[in-house]
Amino acid sequence: MKRVAVYTRVSTDDQATNGLSIETQVQNCNTLIVANKDEAVEIIKDEGYSGGNLNRPGIKLLIRLCTEKKIDVVMMVHSDRLARNTKDHLTMRSLFDECGVKVVYVMQPNLSNDDAYSRTMDTILSSFNELQRLVISDKTKSALDAKAREGWFPGQALPGYMNISNPKFRNPELSRRIVVPNPETAPIIRDMFEMYASGNYNGVELAEYIYERGVRSSTGHKIAPSSVYRYLRNTFYVGELRWGKIYIPQAKHEAIVERSVFDKAQEVLAVSGFASRRRKHFWLLSGLIFCHCGFRFVGEKHPKKNKNYYHCRKVACSKYCEAENLEAVVARKLSGFKFSDDFVSMIVEEAKELLSRRRNEVDKVRHGLTNKKIALEKKQNVLEEKLITGTVDDHAFVRMNNRINDDVLQIDMELLRLTDIKKVTIQQIQVILAFARNIEDAYKKAVPELKRQYLNLFFEGFDIEDGKITNTKVTPLFASLVKANKLFVKSSVLMTSNLGA
Ligand SMILES: [Zn+2]
Repeated sequence: MKRVAVYTRVSTDDQATNGLSIETQVQNCNTLIVANKDEAVEIIKDEGYSGGNLNRPGIKLLIRLCTEKKIDVVMMVHSDRLARNTKDHLTMRSLFDECGVKVVYVMQPNLSNDDAYSRTMDTILSSFNELQRLVISDKTKSALDAKAREGWFPGQALPGYMNISNPKFRNPELSRRIVVPNPETAPIIRDMFEMYASGNYNGVELAEYIYERGVRSSTGHKIAPSSVYRYLRNTFYVGELRWGKIYIPQAKHEAIVERSVFDKAQEVLAVSGFASRRRKHFWLLSGLIFCHCGFRFVGEKHPKKNKNYYHCRKVACSKYCEAENLEAVVARKLSGFKFSDDFVSMIVEEAKELLSRRRNEVDKVRHGLTNKKIALEKKQNVLEEKLITGTVDDHAFVRMNNRINDDVLQIDMELLRLTDIKKVTIQQIQVILAFARNIEDAYKKAVPELKRQYLNLFFEGFDIEDGKITNTKVTPLFASLVKANKLFVKSSVLMTSNLGA
């Protein structure tokens, strides 16, 4: 009889999207424990914790159980309960290994600890868990994106505007809150543009000007000159809408600044050097590259040359390389990487499995929600009849009817979110398959955040000297893949790596 600890977790996100509840997770594990005639010594529940880090009370308990040799097996429904990123996953896996604890996933094709091949699969999947986390944060975004695509600004109103409830509100999930000119502040903002366009005022003076007239930030504070410049560049004021990658030339909100004035202001901005600043840069190699002096390289922007660099953190060393060059050198490391055919088909199988599992989950939840909605509509019919027969008065009718409408709206929102989950799953599977089939190409096409995920799969770090890689530290995963002939790489990669030739 083995001593089993069951690990369960739901994040607040899972709760919102009706992921597997704690009870369901426990139940699934218990079924297997009973079937195996093992003993559950501890049921660990991390409720409301994200898998993005290991800072969870349940994980602390689990670590203690392992180190104190109180368990033989840790069981959970799926590896994504443990961690949603490769690094944490590997940390936990090596702890389990050291303590001789076996990991069992109940709802995932089971991979034994001893088999390097299965372990590999396990790690690859865990890194896609991380990907899912990246995509999930996009999910909240997509409801807002939908609104933007309709032409409505989904965010907090800019100075000169205000958020109101749409009086023509019909569509349940969209455009409920809209942005309209604020009759008090819109004229002041218009003045601000005209004054700036005249070339006689700067941001500091204008910040003062609008403050004196009562314009405040959304948090009620004085608007800083730097923000004034940002507003002056914002085409929202001439009726355009930019939201992420969405661009609507004629949005639904009203322009409060004339195009000619706006254009003049842009000319003044360009002359005074306050042209648009770029968004925060993602340093692909940060924490992954080391100077031969032993210190880390860190990313740094060179504003005058408008170039990005990595430079050594050791002040006395001050070695640096152009980021673009170094990132190309690292990308070249991946060239020629190829998974074996049998490994690719295993990934394809796993992806199929993932897809059907996610579909089932979604369908189950959708079914429940639809039933709830039908029940609400029935309730509404009854209420309407009662109004006609006079069993409820007008006042009570409005109150109850509003409550039902709110509930229906809530359900519609959840249904919309389910559609998103389905979309996310497909995207995710596309990514997994593209990566499995052509590592080099998938890497090339990936966004920097995803590139980083790919690098983390194979590499722990690179030593750099004179802009070249002198030593490659590969991950245990990489090592086991190569050893098992599941991953083919160029011998030059192996030669400079900790695996040796
Ligand atoms: Zn150095």
